[in-house]
Amino acid sequence: QVFSIDSGEPRGALAADPPLAPTDEFLAELESDSLKLESATPQEILKWAVDRFAPKFTMATAFGPEGMTIIHMLAEIAPDTPVFNLETGYQFKETLDLRERVKQRYGIEVEYKLPDTTVAEYEAMHGGPLYETNPNQCCFDRKLRVLHESAKGWHAWASAIRRDQSPDRAKAPIVGWDKKFQLVKVSPLANWTKKDVWSLITKHDIPYNPLHDQGYPSVGCQPCTRAVKVGEDERAGRWAGFQKTECGLHSS
Ligand code: SF4
Repeated sequence: QVFSIDSGEPRGALAADPPLAPTDEFLAELESDSLKLESATPQEILKWAVDRFAPKFTMATAFGPEGMTIIHMLAEIAPDTPVFNLETGYQFKETLDLRERVKQRYGIEVEYKLPDTTVAEYEAMHGGPLYETNPNQCCFDRKLRVLHESAKGWHAWASAIRRDQSPDRAKAPIVGWDKKFQLVKVSPLANWTKKDVWSLITKHDIPYNPLHDQGYPSVGCQPCTRAVKVGEDERAGRWAGFQKTECGLHSS
C-alpha cells in the first residue's frame, strides 16, 4: 500500500507500480515529491520511500559513514529493507568486516553482489590489474555492470550521497528518476553535511570503518584509495593520479 505525501490517502495504480519507462506524469510527481521533501528529515524521507516503494525498495552501500547512518535509520524504520554491497574483490578488510558488524548490531544481512569474474580471473584476462591503467573500465566491469544487474526488478533505491561531497552531486534531488539504472533514486542525506553524519554516528555509536580514523575520509577499493593530508578534499584520496573522482554510480 502506498500513500500520498500530502493527504495520506492511497495512491493510484501508477504510483503503486511505477513504470520502468517513466511517463511525464510520473516524473512530474517525483519532482513535486522531491521539492516537498526538501525540508524533511532523513528519517522522514526514508519513511516516505518505504511507504511509497516497499517491498520494491532497496539500498546499495559501500559501508561509508553516510551509508552506515542510513542503515542505522533503516534498522529503526524498516529493518526488512534489502541492503547490498558491490563486492568488487578489491575492498579493504576493514570494509568487509563492517558487514558482520552490521549483522551483529542490527540483524541486517547485507548481501554481496559479485562481478562475474574473480579478481584473479579478471587480472588474467587483462594481463594485470586494470585499475592501474584504466580504472574507468575496472569500475565499469566490477561496479556499474553489477549494479545494473542488481537494480533490475526494484522500483527505488536509497543512496547515501550528500550534495556537498562533489560538484557532480551538488544538484542531486532528494527523489528523482535515475536514468542510468532505471529506477527511483532516493537521497535522504542530500541536505546533510559531513558534520551531521558524524554527529549521529557519535551519538548512537553507529559502527563505522576504522580507516576513517587513519586519514581515509572516503574509502573505496584498496588499490584506488589513499589517506588524505590535512586540508585536502575528502575525496582526494580516491583514484589519486587519475582525472577521476567518481566510480560512475552517481554521475549522470
Ligand atoms: Fe577497480 Fe579501483 Fe574501481 Fe575498485 S575502485 S572497481 S579497484 S578501478
